[in-house]
Amino acid sequence: MNKLSLPGRLWVASDIHLGPDTPHTAAAFHAFLHDARKKADALILAGDIFDAWIGDDVALASQEPWLKEALHALQLTAARMPLWLGHGNRDFLMGDTLARHLGAGILPDQILLDTDAGPVLLAHGDQYCLADAGYQRFRRMVREPAVQQGFLHLPRSIRQRIASWARKRSMAANRYKSKEIMDVTPAAVARALRSVSARTLIHGHTHRPGTHQFELDGRQVQRVVLPDWDYDHAFPPRGGWLVIDQSGLQLHDATTELTLHATNHRAHSPQASK
Ligand code: MN
Repeated sequence: MNKLSLPGRLWVASDIHLGPDTPHTAAAFHAFLHDARKKADALILAGDIFDAWIGDDVALASQEPWLKEALHALQLTAARMPLWLGHGNRDFLMGDTLARHLGAGILPDQILLDTDAGPVLLAHGDQYCLADAGYQRFRRMVREPAVQQGFLHLPRSIRQRIASWARKRSMAANRYKSKEIMDVTPAAVARALRSVSARTLIHGHTHRPGTHQFELDGRQVQRVVLPDWDYDHAFPPRGGWLVIDQSGLQLHDATTELTLHATNHRAHSPQASK
C-alpha cells in the first residue's frame, strides 16, 4: 500500500464535477480553494474534480474560461501547499502533464495517509462498488494503460464523441440500478480496511455523505463519505469537505461555511446559468 505523510491541517474534498455548465458550483469551489489557501496545510481532491477529462493536452490547450480559471486556482493553491489529485470515474485520465502544469501530485487508487488524526485510508470509492458488475468491467478496461494510450492518441473530436457516448450509456444503465448496487459493497470496504492498520476509510463517489461506524474483526472502524458539490442543478445546493487535524475528522458544509466572493462574474450572469 502506498503511503503519504500529510501533517497539519489536511482538507479533503471530492466530486465537484466542474464543467462548462456549472458556474455556481465553480464559484463555490473557488471560494473553497481561497479558504484552503488561508487555512489548510495540505489539500486532497479525491476524484471527479472535473465532470469529464479526455486528456491533459486537450484541457491545457483549452480556451474555455471556466477551465482556465479552475486550472489557475489549482495552480495558486499548489504554490501554497501540497496539492494531491485523485482519479475519479470521470477524470481518471488526468495525468502527469496536468500534475506538472499545476505543481500538484497524482494519487494512486488507494493511499494510506499518515495524518495528525492517525492513519486513514483514502480512495475515490468507485472501486468498492462491486455490485455494479457492468461498471467494474468498464473500469478494468479503461484503466488498462494500453487502452488509455490508444484513446489519448485519437483526435480530440473522436475522443469527445466516445466520451459522450460512454456517458450517455452509463446514465441510461444507472437508471435501472438500485441504490444498493450504486453504493459501496460492505465486503470490499472490509477487505480494504483489513489490508491496512487504519481504522478510517475516506471516500467520495457515492454522493451519500456521512460517517458510518461499525465493528470489524473486533475493532471499531469508520467509513467517512465525502459530499458531492452541486450549486447549479440541485435544490438546495450542496457541497462540503473534510478537515483532518489533531482534533480528529470533521465534515464541513460548504453551503453554510463558505463566503462566495463576487469574483467570478460569469457565475452571476443569467445566461451562464442553466
Ligand atoms: Mn465518482
